[in-house]
Amino acid sequence: MKIGKFQIYTGKGKGKTTAALGLCFRALGQDLKVKIFQLRKSQVCGEHIQAKRIGLDISQCPVGRSGEPCVSPCPLIIEAMEMFEKDAPDILVIDEMMEAIRVKCVSIDEAVELVKAKPEGTELIMTGRNVPQELLDLADLITSMEPIKHYYKDGVPAREGIEY
Ligand SMILES: [Zn+2]
Repeated sequence: MKIGKFQIYTGKGKGKTTAALGLCFRALGQDLKVKIFQLRKSQVCGEHIQAKRIGLDISQCPVGRSGEPCVSPCPLIIEAMEMFEKDAPDILVIDEMMEAIRVKCVSIDEAVELVKAKPEGTELIMTGRNVPQELLDLADLITSMEPIKHYYKDGVPAREGIEY
């Protein structure tokens, strides 16, 4: 019997999305069904290129890209709800969920409803800074990335293959 938990990667440090992707990498190795939704992002990063090569499905919101408003609820949240009802993956990552909540593409009520609709066997992972208390309360695992040192202070630009 599969036990699926609800995890959150948060904090001001680097590594939230990378941690979620690492978890997906492991799950794929065990032939689990993985689905990644990215909210508030439109950039094509290394992970999207590699995902295409290995047939991994990463969907970015077609409406509310970074800097643009989305409808509420965000179409990807509606899709996630539908997936939970009929064809749930083993792993569902919702990247930048907290940013989507902050800009009101997703209400806190909708986020809570989604977590509660999670089937028993699905691992749900959300990322983003400033997690609402309602989600902190529901989470089984919360990891906060703490920046101890970061090279952006030295003016290092985002590097291909490392930051994107
Ligand atoms: Zn959206």
